[in-house]
Formats: sequence, structure tokens, C-alpha cells
Amino acid sequence: MSSDKNNNCCSGVIELVVIEQNAPKCPVCGDAGKLVKNVTVRHLVKKEFGEAINDLDFAICMSENCNTVYFSINEHVIIEKNQVREAIWYKKDADPKYACYCNKVTFDQIKGAVRIIGDKNMSKVINYTGAMKSCHCEISNPLGICCHETIKQAIDEA
Ligand SMILES: [Zn+2]
Repeated sequence: MSSDKNNNCCSGVIELVVIEQNAPKCPVCGDAGKLVKNVTVRHLVKKEFGEAINDLDFAICMSENCNTVYFSINEHVIIEKNQVREAIWYKKDADPKYACYCNKVTFDQIKGAVRIIGDKNMSKVINYTGAMKSCHCEISNPLGICCHETIKQAIDEA
């Protein structure tokens, strides 16, 4: 495997705000969450819930079965699945299940591309699907992180 860093469309632009130690726990299911930037949450929630976001610090619930998406760290603001604009790909029944939110490329499209081109090569799959072509992960991806890892996961599943 050669360096995947070169494929990361966000390198140098977005620092990962993933802190594994002292991970905030989802107040609903108790699973560990991941910190997410306020600007990400602000763009992902539906307009009518924008005000509740304020300038609070948020984390995202990583549990597949929990309806909670974002929860605030110190206040009691909870944003559920039906209050965000996009389906969260790792949540149960996500539809569509995007691997790349910026260019609206789904897991199925990635897997289909692997079948059609008969190759799991990352850059070939990206070229074919148009994933990671224009990159605004910070405000499009629900975690605010580069979709690179998720695309890799979709390719692995193919
Ligand atoms: Zn939860």
C-alpha cells in the first residue's frame, strides 16, 4: 500500500477533531461520541433547528442504532436523525448512504464502480465515481472530516 495521504482531499485544510480519550458520551445511548466542529453541525442541521446550535460545542453519536446525531457537550441540546439534512451513513436505515457527501456519491455507487472497473484501486474508483472531486467536507460531511476513510471502507466492502 502506498501512501494514502496523497488521496486525502482535505490534507492540510482540516485538522481531525477526533479525540479518543475522554470521548464525550451520548446522553441517550451512552456510547462514545466524537467531537465535531460547530460550523459542521450548523451546516448539517435543518434550518429550523439552527438557532439551538448557537456557539455550543458538539459531538456526534457513533452508535448505529441510536436516533441521536449531535449532542452538545455541556448544555442539553440534542439533534436527532430527522433534524439533520442528510442521512448519517453509519446509522441504521441510512438512505441515501453517502460515502462522499460533497459530491453525493453513495456506498452502492462505490461498490458498483469496483465491480465495473474490476479494481479496488482508490484513485481509479475516485475517478470513475467523481467522489472527492470538489471538497468541502468540513460543512458537508456529518463528522466534518474528509470522506477519504469512508470511501476506503466502501471499497473494502465491495
Ligand atoms: Zn447515541
